[in-house]
Amino acid sequence: MSRIPLVMLDAGHGPKSPGAAGNGIDEQALNWVLIQKIAAFCTWDSWATMLTRQDYFNTPSLTERVNYANAMDADLFVSIHVNAGDPSQRGAEVYHYGPSSKGSELATIMSENIHDEIGGRVRIVGSPSQNYPRTLFVLKKTRPWALLIEACYLSNPTDAAKLKTRTFPDAFCLGVAQGIHSCFHHLGKVV
Ligand SMILES: [Zn+2]
Repeated sequence: MSRIPLVMLDAGHGPKSPGAAGNGIDEQALNWVLIQKIAAFCTWDSWATMLTRQDYFNTPSLTERVNYANAMDADLFVSIHVNAGDPSQRGAEVYHYGPSSKGSELATIMSENIHDEIGGRVRIVGSPSQNYPRTLFVLKKTRPWALLIEACYLSNPTDAAKLKTRTFPDAFCLGVAQGIHSCFHHLGKVV
């Protein structure tokens, strides 16, 4: 009998390495809230869920996150971040490891599921990209299929306002959980 599939959910950064900040939003704290919501939605479905950050105060290194996912033999690794950049940049993005065609397929599936819940354009980015060395690391070094999702840009006033509503984070997290289902289905792990 095949075992239950396992998703490793990775809330980016942590209190000791907080990531982006702006418009009153602390990325690492928001990533933690988003991962809790995604994990809650995952309990509705037929796979196991584990977290790389085991409590709010935990700040594992990138190597520790990757090693944990590999040691637990996860089937899918999903890292959640909130982006910052030029104030005009906005919208959700799904990153995958560029050289993998399966990674590209899974990124497309995930982006469609997120789009179904939040609307707008969900951009797909094939890492490695010079601008995202951290993305490169967790996507390249994990043995499970891996996606890194930027919910939107906290540096953009419209996106930042959405992040502070109740509806947008819930819709985003539901889209990610449904995307995990669709990815597992694509990989033949769930019906
Ligand atoms: Zn980040």
